[in-house]
Amino acid sequence: MTAIRITGGAVHDPANDIDGEIRDVCLQDGKVVADVGPDARRIDARGMVVMPGGVDIHAHIAGPKVNAARKLSPEERRDDPLERTELLRSGTGGLVPSTFATGYRYSLLGYTTVVEAAVPPLAARHALAELRDTPMIDKLFLILMGNNQVLFELIRLSEPERVKDAVAWWLEATGGYGVKLVNPGGVERWKQDNGNVHALDDPVAGFDVTPRQVLEAIGGAVDELGLPHPVHVHANNLGVPGNADTTLDTMRTLSGRQAHFAHLQFHCYGGEPGGLPRSRAPELLDYLREHPELTADVGQVMFGPAVTMTADAPVSAVLRDLGHGKWLNHDTEVETGCGIVPFTYRAGNYVHALQWGIGLELFLLGRDPWQVMLSTDHPNGGSFLSYPKLIALLMDRAFRDEEIARANQRAIRRTALLDGLDREYTLNEIAIITRAGPARRLGLRDKGHLGIGADADVTIYVDRADREEMFATPRYVIKAGQVAVEEGELRRPDDGLLLSSRAAFDPEVSRVLEPLFGDRYTVAFEHYPVRDPALREPARIVEAGRP
Ligand SMILES: [Zn+2]
Repeated sequence: MTAIRITGGAVHDPANDIDGEIRDVCLQDGKVVADVGPDARRIDARGMVVMPGGVDIHAHIAGPKVNAARKLSPEERRDDPLERTELLRSGTGGLVPSTFATGYRYSLLGYTTVVEAAVPPLAARHALAELRDTPMIDKLFLILMGNNQVLFELIRLSEPERVKDAVAWWLEATGGYGVKLVNPGGVERWKQDNGNVHALDDPVAGFDVTPRQVLEAIGGAVDELGLPHPVHVHANNLGVPGNADTTLDTMRTLSGRQAHFAHLQFHCYGGEPGGLPRSRAPELLDYLREHPELTADVGQVMFGPAVTMTADAPVSAVLRDLGHGKWLNHDTEVETGCGIVPFTYRAGNYVHALQWGIGLELFLLGRDPWQVMLSTDHPNGGSFLSYPKLIALLMDRAFRDEEIARANQRAIRRTALLDGLDREYTLNEIAIITRAGPARRLGLRDKGHLGIGADADVTIYVDRADREEMFATPRYVIKAGQVAVEEGELRRPDDGLLLSSRAAFDPEVSRVLEPLFGDRYTVAFEHYPVRDPALREPARIVEAGRP
């Protein structure tokens, strides 16, 4: 393998307390090393910024809902074709790019690891097949467990050891990396009679469990198993005015356990259900400040087109009623649901501008960038291609003020954005929210930093005053020690790694699960786990266990 010496660049490696120091970074055999020989390729990075490759902690890039979203908007496919080249496959772009295009475009943006945040375990085969077809990036996925009838049964029987074994069994059966809870209990209610749960102690009809019990049981199991990534929570009441109470209740319910809250922006609202929302972001940030065991990603809304796709199917029905456009609902038997609605966030709209402002409040009022990370919940709040613009909003107050002036002023006045909020993110803070923080929270010890032994995933940007242009067009992207992108072009295809996690469990759990599967699933228990080596291997397995 080629060795590389990156020389003369300003290195931003916050995990190792390096903040813009001019120093060499040496790479060999896919790892960061202390030194390389004189024959190593030299990359002259003078005038440039060197960071670890980007790590996206929450996006939707593969699996049945993503594929359904592609089918739902064929016009997008026509508008943005990618030609086949000698090196690269053809594909289509738009808000939900095809598999290969997804990998290429993340790489061109300087990202080297991406989390697919919501896969029905029953659809793991499909998700794995698509992830294997998503090149250039390492990828991992979270399995949906908040509305699973078999788990409800174990939770109802108050068998915490069995729940723990079942969670570990499910990860082993699917190749998943972590556990996601989406509107616990609410999606099951939606599938029954288009209902929902509205508070953590609302019963899930027919199962004698509550959202709070699901949070405690599964959040507790993930915590006790010591999985590398804690339970990843999409709380109940997403988007509902007044939902900050539910979010705080959820945080308190999980208290003392590690947990990550997805797209917090959608869960920070004051007001009354049915009325207009207002911001309660400062209160949620206060709570986070006192609870270092909790982290969040923002789920920033960007003005313009988006595609909402979520396991929280009742939310999609609400969005359908707002827009009267296309809507897809899909029930995944026994496990979860899904809704997809193409959507446009408009700067002049009160609610959309408020959501945009609340996202920025979370970034700008939060004191600890390790705790509040960058996401747009791609493509729910906007495409991952809008990250450079979001970074510019955080780093450049003048640009932010121009954008604030374009937004609905009644909404903006109800945020802290006009209160002389002059914070501008530093390059190191950007490196924290886009790589170091997510990697640490995912338990990926070889990622998100440039210390000796780290994966040789490196992004090099020309240091430009125009931060949007800077972050949209990295000068070099190095993946696993090889130059993948140079001067805005993909130079070398790479398969990327599948990352899975593993925790020990009592194999006797199969004897408990099998009859429950027989009662409920259409799929036989023995056919459920994904055994196809082409889908499962090779993978880097991250073992559970506390450091
Ligand atoms: Zn999401």
